[in-house]
Amino acid sequence: MPGPRARFSGPLHPIEVASVDEIRALQLSRLRSVLRRVYAQVPHYRAAFDAAGVQPEDCRELADLARFPFTAKADLRANYPFGLFAVPREQVARLHASSGTTGKPTVVGYTKADIDTWATLVARSIHASGGRPGDIVHVAYGYGLFTGGLGAHYGAERLGCTVVPMSGGQTEKQLQLITDFKPDLIMVTPTYMLTLIDAMETGGIDPKQTSLKVGIFGAEPWTEAIRTEIEARTALDAIDIFGLSEVMGPGVANECIESKDGPVIWEDHFYPEIVDPVSGQVLPEGEPGELVITTLTKEALPVVRYRTRDLTRLLPPTARSMRRLGKITGRSDDMLIIRGVNVFPTQIEEIVCATEGLAAQYLIYVDKDSHLDHVTIHVELRHPVDPARRTALGATITHQVKALVGISALVEVLDPNAIERVVMGKAKRIIDRRLKE
Ligand code: ADP
Repeated sequence: MPGPRARFSGPLHPIEVASVDEIRALQLSRLRSVLRRVYAQVPHYRAAFDAAGVQPEDCRELADLARFPFTAKADLRANYPFGLFAVPREQVARLHASSGTTGKPTVVGYTKADIDTWATLVARSIHASGGRPGDIVHVAYGYGLFTGGLGAHYGAERLGCTVVPMSGGQTEKQLQLITDFKPDLIMVTPTYMLTLIDAMETGGIDPKQTSLKVGIFGAEPWTEAIRTEIEARTALDAIDIFGLSEVMGPGVANECIESKDGPVIWEDHFYPEIVDPVSGQVLPEGEPGELVITTLTKEALPVVRYRTRDLTRLLPPTARSMRRLGKITGRSDDMLIIRGVNVFPTQIEEIVCATEGLAAQYLIYVDKDSHLDHVTIHVELRHPVDPARRTALGATITHQVKALVGISALVEVLDPNAIERVVMGKAKRIIDRRLKE
């Protein structure tokens, strides 16, 4: 494994508790150097800066970054596979690729130093989540091209933990290893955690009695309602980890166990902005909009003003000196527009989770019939109930969706376990059948 295997415990890195002025000064000097580097090394950035009429030297203060052009996923695709790398390919120690639903995947690269930084930041994230050297960490994120598994793995090793590289899937085996190896922490998507909890209950394992103390959940949006659900059914503290492959992978931001108030962005390595998703204007702090990130230290694939498409807000520092992300309400490309109303799956999730008698599972189907959109929501009973109760539950959800989201939906209340569980990768909440026309 590249880089020194640092074991740190207890005390925080000085930058985690530095003054705002120190953090901003570090960001500015790193930002200026990134802008100079991409302009010199990456033809795409040179052309984009020239077209926008800006030079790296025009960035004299952090606010000047707003004058620089955005980078989008399309730019990575257009430069597939290695065109945005800022170092010769020989210096790239590892490649990953994001899932990419259609067409070419988005390829990202890391130098040895990038892998080292990533491991350090995931170690910092696990530490913020309450993990300590010597803990056993069960990693159930997928290993492979997806950044989740290896990202978590290197970070847990860096912190000095014992890592179980289980990867996703094979639910029975997951339970066996959790029972036998007695891990302290689990790193997994929140959806798959729910599947594991269900499987424990069915298999006669009391989820409150396992060795697990902390779950570090990310890779997909999840609501406070899911946190409450997981924490009520287990003895876990449920902690939010955020990241994306284009920026690094998991560990761009992570919640602190003592506050659980949104992931802290590790601002010594990433500079966040929130912009209006339509106009691209930078919004004042606290306003909701699209998260845009500039990497401050990456070597192989620095990104300038990368549009994450994630919708959230920047919140003031609490447990650390760095700013936090509000819960991600969704990705702009996950947003459904139903007869003119914007709908995010997380809104449905909150309603379903708050309804007594329903499992934390749902699927949203969208169809089009004579030019009108129709939404059908599948929800699932936690336990069998009589037909009258089933009808009443359906009516409750229909009413709540109308009142809180503003759309009319047909709700089908299915039997326990009728909704197929995700065992690998990210949850798919929407089945948009309009696209098949
Ligand atoms: P892909 O773009 O193919 O999904 P990634 O695996 O890099 O590739 O996924 C990154 C995305 O996953 C983020 O942009 C975000 O939408 C989502 N994500 C990751 N962590 C979280 C989290 N903690 N909360 C909400 N969404 C998350």
